[in-house]
Amino acid sequence: MTVALVTGITGQDGSYLAERLVAEGVEIHGLVRPGDPALSVLQDSCPGLFVHEGDLRDGARLETLVLDLVPDEVYNLAGLSSVAESWGEPVLTAEVTGLAVARLLQASWSAQERTGRAVRFLQASSAEIFGNCDRVPQDENTPLCPTSPYGAAKAYAHHLVSVYRSRGLHAVSTVLYNHESPRRPPSFVTRKITAGAVAIATGAATELVLGNLDVQRDWGWAPDYVDAMVRAMRHDRADDFVVATGEARSVRDFVAAAFSHVGIDDWTPFVRTDPAFGRPVEARMLVGDPSKAQNELGWTTTVGFDEMVRRMVEHDAHSSSR
Ligand code: NAP
Repeated sequence: MTVALVTGITGQDGSYLAERLVAEGVEIHGLVRPGDPALSVLQDSCPGLFVHEGDLRDGARLETLVLDLVPDEVYNLAGLSSVAESWGEPVLTAEVTGLAVARLLQASWSAQERTGRAVRFLQASSAEIFGNCDRVPQDENTPLCPTSPYGAAKAYAHHLVSVYRSRGLHAVSTVLYNHESPRRPPSFVTRKITAGAVAIATGAATELVLGNLDVQRDWGWAPDYVDAMVRAMRHDRADDFVVATGEARSVRDFVAAAFSHVGIDDWTPFVRTDPAFGRPVEARMLVGDPSKAQNELGWTTTVGFDEMVRRMVEHDAHSSSR
């Protein structure tokens, strides 16, 4: 039986990954911070999940856990995942999103060396490693040029994955572009928009305040990105893979789609912009070229932009009516 260790298992991607691995019959172990309120929901949908309390900043804990389990697969999905928050917490971001990856890679390497059993490692990297790059779309050969503490921490981790790959670990980096779902925390702009549109349509709010509406991103459906991670982990050759839709959409497009799903065609009277919601340095146009993932992993997206927004709006409408 395959044994998998997943960090960030209570997050958006971690929860979809856990459900998928449990359905496949994988013995799944999750690293969870003590008192995480999301755990009980996850345990309901993932019977048999083994929970290990710990924090990514605790190197000794990570090492013991990996050496005890010697998992076949280590998925590192944990991290401080908000670019906006990383500006307020640059040191914590470096520790959790950057340094912890060194700890996990070293622990995986040690477990492999001591037991002679192959340990595969997957890092959830990010398009933010390309922040200020002038190439559109970006691919696996695009030079790294982060513009935020989050992007810089992810860039360090991305480089380190390739260092351990050269050392002999099956270490994979999936360079994930933005991906959304009803499980996205409400602090992220996409959920803020879908929840805001629902609140306005039901009379619970009168306006939605956002930052720059012209920012363009490449948005996909989270379960599709989890599928790419599993395919990349199990691919014969450890490598880097850009996971993206290849389509650029603006925040304005997202707003228009969300409001149209609640029956409001002219959203402009309800949306106000405030520069305070912008970022000190905004990444340029982040759009990925997923050709390598499509050709080598047989990966494809199953849910398009409009349907993704519709599902998020439907979820928020359902939650607000309860
Ligand atoms: P998420 O929903 O924010 O989940 C992050 C997870 O990390 C949570 O389970 C969180 O646990 C855990 N975590 C945070 N700090 C920790 C710590 N110090 N020790 C242990 N666990 C900790 O993120 P996501 O959207 O699922 O993303 C998964 C990964 O993909 C992240 O690394 C993210 O940076 C990367 N990524 C995501 C996107 C995207 O669009 N979603 C795009 C590119 C890359 P708590 O519940 O205790 O906070």
